[in-house]
Parts: sequence; structure tokens; C-alpha cells
Amino acid sequence: MAFDYDLFVIGGGSGGVRAARVAAQGGAKVALAEEDRYGGTCVIRGCVPKKLMVFASEFPNAIADAAEYGWAVHAGGFDWSAFQGKLHAELDRLEGVYRNILSSNGVETFDARAKLADAHTVSLSTGETKTAKHILIASGGRPVKPDLPGAEHAITSNEIFHLTELPKSILIIGGGYIACEFAGILNGLGVAVTQFYRGAQILRGFDEEARGLVSDEMIQNGINLHLGTNILEMSPVDGGYKVKATNGTEEVYDQVMFATGRVPNSDDMGLEDIGIKLGRKGQIEVDEYSQTAIPSVYAIGDVTDRVNLTPVAIREGMAFVETVFNANPTPVDHDLIPTAIFTQPEMGTVGLSEEEARDQEPIEVYATSFKPMQQAFAGRSDRVLMKLIVSQATRKVLGCHIVAPGAGEMIQLAGIAVKMGATKEDFDRTCAVHPTMSEELVTMKTPVRTA
Ligand code: NDP
Repeated sequence: MAFDYDLFVIGGGSGGVRAARVAAQGGAKVALAEEDRYGGTCVIRGCVPKKLMVFASEFPNAIADAAEYGWAVHAGGFDWSAFQGKLHAELDRLEGVYRNILSSNGVETFDARAKLADAHTVSLSTGETKTAKHILIASGGRPVKPDLPGAEHAITSNEIFHLTELPKSILIIGGGYIACEFAGILNGLGVAVTQFYRGAQILRGFDEEARGLVSDEMIQNGINLHLGTNILEMSPVDGGYKVKATNGTEEVYDQVMFATGRVPNSDDMGLEDIGIKLGRKGQIEVDEYSQTAIPSVYAIGDVTDRVNLTPVAIREGMAFVETVFNANPTPVDHDLIPTAIFTQPEMGTVGLSEEEARDQEPIEVYATSFKPMQQAFAGRSDRVLMKLIVSQATRKVLGCHIVAPGAGEMIQLAGIAVKMGATKEDFDRTCAVHPTMSEELVTMKTPVRTA
């Protein structure tokens, strides 16, 4: 049977665009449908605008520190609309880059919503129907709000980039990546930030000592963090929203933002009708090659809810092309993925937390926490953490956890060593780069504890 395309990709985010481009470069006839903006969550309403907002939010401290270093400076005020104008111009530019990547590689694009009609057929919201030998679903995810009275008045990370003005105060609900990153950003931009997290400590799942330090520093920076606290209901009042909390308080905030997790975009796509299996959260069930229960249909990225990170979606897209178009079955390697949380201070992490590692085998823990030179000179009390978890049996570094300015940059490099299976002695044999914060990773001589 002749198909319209070799590959039809649903979703123009990081994973979908990469798979479409690489398949097309290899000679496949490819089409892609995107119902919203090209670039997806990462470029349009996630990593990219978030990181630019992190940069914007760091200037007040940098300016205050400059004065401590002898510069005559004053911060003046932050112009949200000037920043926002530049931000959206940059996102428009990047969206153009994504569209251009597709068109210049011969990928036909449809600005439309796509549904699966059968194992080889996609129906578009334009009314068209297209057939393809393979279909790749890369439709991503979206934020969810809990079902509670008044939640419809709250924003999510989707709306935060579009506020016409910055609120004076905000309540952020959640303790994950997004809640903690935006607490730091908005605090830096001068918004009075209150954060509720229902559990005992933010950033559940990460190394306890590392998340403890991030939490301490966030509080030290002025974030009003309430642990063991959740929202019960909210309602609009003059000047904002009144929030009833589980701790018995009632406060009014200009804005309320839910950062309470994300769900896969798999609704209303005809998936289960054609035999594709969805998990409890709505994630598309796939095997190690990203293949669904229907052999011609694959899925990658957040819609599969494996490891919801842009570089992982990109790798899943590349592995899909290698498997399907280059006849080289390539499973996706989800082991030892380094990641950074752009809190202030940042956290970079790869491998096992101390808690996970000690449940697995006997370990040594090497850790040091200190005041970094640059901030200490400016009179700040900020602390950083460098931590290695080492297997007693193999001497391999099982985990590396960094809380420090620039931790994201550091963990990218430490991640190479850990992925290569470096031992503690390999770290020790590496000469220190002096004076830096990360040199501590190669100079820690004695374990602080064994477990
Ligand atoms: P997460 O799943 O990381 O965190 C959700 C948070 O909301 C958790 O603290 C959770 O608590 C809490 N929560 C969930 N439901 C409720 C509820 N009903 N009431 C109160 N609190 C609730 O989601 P995020 O939205 O922060 O981020 C989604 C994903 O996006 C991340 O996991 C990550 O993969 C990715 N991401 C990565 C970034 C990066 O690489 N820097 C940046 C941003 C996002 P509990 O812990 O108790 O479950």
C-alpha cells in the first residue's frame, strides 16, 4: 500500500522536531502537525523563557554584590513590560528557527490538531486525512491544577510568561522543579513569594541533604516557604484572591500559581480506540524502542511520562529514527541522566541520592558545605554543597549532588565522569582547578559517613 508519508509526527516540540528533521535528512518523506506554536513546552512556555527569567531575577543580588566589590551602583527598578517584550521577541525568533529547520529539510508541516484514525491514518482539524507508514506521537504534556474550589482563578506555568504586570504577591503551590524555580525567579524580581508544599521537604526524590540546603537558602533569600501546608480553597476578593490553607490561615494574594505537576497530552486523540494502551496518568505505554502496542505507532517525550526532560525527548526521537529508519534497533538509555534545577542556588544532580544508594549497597558519603568565595567576600552567608556517593564495593561514584551557583554547568561535566563509571580514585587523580567551587569534588579525602 502506498502511504502519503514515510513518517507523520504529531507535535512540534523538541522531540518531534528532532525526529522529523533527522528522518527527513535520511531521505524519508516526513510530515508534522502542531496545533499550537512550534518549539513546544521547552521553547515557548518552559526551559527557555524560564531560564531567561532566572537571569533577569539574578540582577538585584549581582548589583548589591557589585557595591560590595567597590562599584558605585544602584539597581533602579525592574521594567517587566520591557523585559517581557524582549522575551517574547526571542521566543518568536526561536519559533521561526524551529519552523525553518523543518521546511529547510523538506518536512511538510500542518498547523493543525491531529488525531489517529487507524494504525496508519491521521485526521487533521483542517479536515484533511493523511496516511503514513509510521506515526510518531510527540504531543508533550501540560500543567494540571488540583480540583478545589476557586482553582479556575489560579494560573500555571503556562500563563506566568504572559502576565500583563508582575503581581506584588504570589502564592505558589507545589514543591517540584517548577514551583521551586518560580519561587526563586519571582522573589528575585521583587514579588513577595509564599510557597506551600504539602510534604515535609521540597524537591521530593532528590538527595535529602541537597534539597535541605536549597530549602534553607530559599527561605534565607526571603521566600515564605510553608512545609506540610496545602491550599483548601480560594476565592476572588478585592485586590486578589483569598486563600484558605490547611494550617488554618486565610491570606490574600495578588496571584495564585499551581505548579502541581503535569499530565501527558493524550486526550481525545483516538488512541485507545485503535488499541494504543494508556497508563493511569494518560501516558502512552511504550517499550524500550518507544513503540506502542500498535507496531506502526511510536511515542516519545512527555506524552510517555518516562523522564520528562527536553534532552531525553530529543534522545528518544533520535533513537526512534535509528531504530525505524536506519534498521538499527536502539533502546533509549534512561540511566544516569544529569539534571539541573534552576532554583537559587541551583542544584545539579546525577545518579543516586544518598538515601537511594544506601538502600542498594554499602556506601561512603563525601560531602562538604562552605561559603563560596565570591559571595562570602560580598558579605553573603550563602552556602554551597558538593557531595559524592561512592560504592564501597566497586568504588564507583554512584551519585554526585551539587548545590551552588552554576551547578547546572558543573553537573553536565561531572555527569560524563559518572556515566563513564568513574571511581572515587579517578576523581582523586584529577587535579583541582583552583580557585573554584567544584574543585572540592576532587579534593574530598575522608568520608563524612558510611552507610
Ligand atoms: P513535579 O511532579 O516535579 O512536582 C509537582 C509538585 O506538586 C510536587 O511537589 C507535588 O507534591 C505537588 N502536588 C501534586 N499534586 C498536588 C496537589 N493536589 N496539591 C498540592 N500539591 C500537589 O511537577 P512540576 O510541575 O514541578 O514539573 C513537571 C516536570 O517538568 C518535572 O518533573 C520535570 O521532569 C520537568 N521540569 C524540569 C525542569 C528542569 O529540568 N530544570 C524545570 C521544570 C520542569 P508531592 O511531592 O507530595 O507529590
